[in-house]
Amino acid sequence: MSFLAVEDLVVRHGLLQAVRGVTFGVERGETLALVGANGAGKTTLLRAIAGAHQPAAGRVLLGDADLTNVPSHKRVGMGIALVPEGRKLFVRMSVEENLLLGRTAGRPGDWSVDKVLEMFPNLKPRRHAKTGHLSGGEQQATAIGRALMSNPDVLLLDEVSLGLSPAIVERVYDALQGLIASGTTIILVEQDLSRALSVSDKVICMLEGRIALAADSKSVSRDDVTKAYFGLHRQKAEPA
Ligand code: ATP
Repeated sequence: MSFLAVEDLVVRHGLLQAVRGVTFGVERGETLALVGANGAGKTTLLRAIAGAHQPAAGRVLLGDADLTNVPSHKRVGMGIALVPEGRKLFVRMSVEENLLLGRTAGRPGDWSVDKVLEMFPNLKPRRHAKTGHLSGGEQQATAIGRALMSNPDVLLLDEVSLGLSPAIVERVYDALQGLIASGTTIILVEQDLSRALSVSDKVICMLEGRIALAADSKSVSRDDVTKAYFGLHRQKAEPA
């Protein structure tokens, strides 16, 4: 069984089924990229794994533990950390104070404020600045650092490059490469297909709440992923 398993997950927003029976697994140390058009259900899926959104059906399993009915704050304590879309920092608190909030789950591990500042040196001079005064890249680094401070087994990253300049995106991904190399299990939502494929072991393309394509990132063609993205993948495989 996979380290993290999602089984037949259905997640609704009211009457809308945003995630429609999704099943996949991630092994320990793997990086999985979630891609798909706007509204495909990527954020909803990530939030359901983190416990921020209760599914209507299906299960989320971490190792032997069934997380499905575990509230989000307890999931952090069990090793799941979400870097949400839009960062969701406490803007009147400093970088350091935001980082220390990641500690409240009390999980043992190596991450400390100093280690996060080593990973994101641009944050060093901003340590005591209120996060509301930071640039987008500094805020994103703080949000990732806060998640790391909980010493997660699984890190969920929702569009970490959104709204950042190409140079800053490069810097954020350089830092993430270190995490990937160190064996952190990661699920990331990324709109940039080339980056998603180059950074990950596996890719899942979602279309209207379902998995349109699941493949090894290194062997799948960009063309196949693009077709899945636009809903052309399955039609092509079917006889005319
Ligand atoms: P994006 O790339 O735009 O963030 P996404 O793939 O992450 O898209 P979701 O944000 O998960 O997709 O949205 C999936 C579906 O659920 C969409 O139809 C969206 O409009 C709807 N949806 C998302 N959040 C809510 C909400 N809070 N209330 C109602 N509907 C929602």
